[in-house]
Amino acid sequence: YAKKNGGDQYRLHNKELNESLVQEMQMERHLRYAIKEQEFTLVYQPQVNLQTRQMYGVEALIRWNSAALGAVSPEDFIPVAEKNGLIVPIGEWVVQEACRQAKLWQDSLPVPLTVSLNVSAKQLRQPNFAEMVMTAIQASGVNPKLLCLEITESSVVNHLESAKYMLEELIRIGVDISIDDFGTGYSSLSVLTQLPISSIKIDRSFISSIEHQHDKLEIAKAIITMGHGIHKRIVAEGVENVKHYQILKELRCDTAQGYFFGKPVPPRELENLLFTSLRNYVECLG
Ligand code: C2E
Ligand code: MG
Ligand code: MG
Ligand code: MG
Repeated sequence: YAKKNGGDQYRLHNKELNESLVQEMQMERHLRYAIKEQEFTLVYQPQVNLQTRQMYGVEALIRWNSAALGAVSPEDFIPVAEKNGLIVPIGEWVVQEACRQAKLWQDSLPVPLTVSLNVSAKQLRQPNFAEMVMTAIQASGVNPKLLCLEITESSVVNHLESAKYMLEELIRIGVDISIDDFGTGYSSLSVLTQLPISSIKIDRSFISSIEHQHDKLEIAKAIITMGHGIHKRIVAEGVENVKHYQILKELRCDTAQGYFFGKPVPPRELENLLFTSLRNYVECLG
């Protein structure tokens, strides 16, 4: 009886495996279609200076509205695209589109607006990645100083030497590098001393309920102190309410993003947000 039960469990396990494989293969097919038919868009989330509350930049986040699957979250399709390699063409599109938009803002806004974009591990390991970024910058005419590439600790920790080489090449082009989701994954503090990064993003898991959880507060405080000690700008992710904002401001965190300041939105809406905040700012002065 036990044996039969075990056999069933094995079959069940096998069936689940097959189902997820089938799902990934279907997703791959839809992703190829999405690349060809341009089903992706970028939305932009405000990043604000915590002392002045002024928006200084935005993070570009990909959205996929699939004809076959409807809206699919990046949390669901980016890992699949990483696995099957499609993140390379998708990521190239993200770089080109973010450069194009950043150049439009560079020419139309009265204040500089930086654009951060996410780079995944596999992209960074492409030997021609820096060259691709360079080409996109030149084709768009954007000032590279307005661009920031967000990479995660886990994407560099196993390839520190080659990552260092690639990041130094990117720095020479003139873009900034930021460490995303800091404190999660396979963190290694040596990443901070060995790589040419200018800012650290505290993962939103440390910010959520920071007002109730003493441990999170202490960790955020430690990251901010340590980061400032080595001359990095600190960005808090996932600032959702006024309490989060007040605590982080009090802790002297430099900048932040989160629903409290604004959700990721299409370019036109972002411009409206920016102009409203600029108007308020000017009214405050006057
Ligand atoms: P991430 O880079 O850490 O981006 C922050 C995520 O937190 C975004 O989710 C954003 O919408 C969400 N978020 C922002 N503020 C708040 C808040 O106050 N509360 C909560 N609960 N969430 C907030 P999104 O857009 O679903 O993206 C998820 C992840 O997918 C990103 O995490 C990033 O790792 C990846 N991703 C998104 N766009 C791209 C892309 O263009 N390329 C690559 N390689 N990865 C991307
Ligand atoms: Mg990010
Ligand atoms: Mg993040
Ligand atoms: Mg994250």
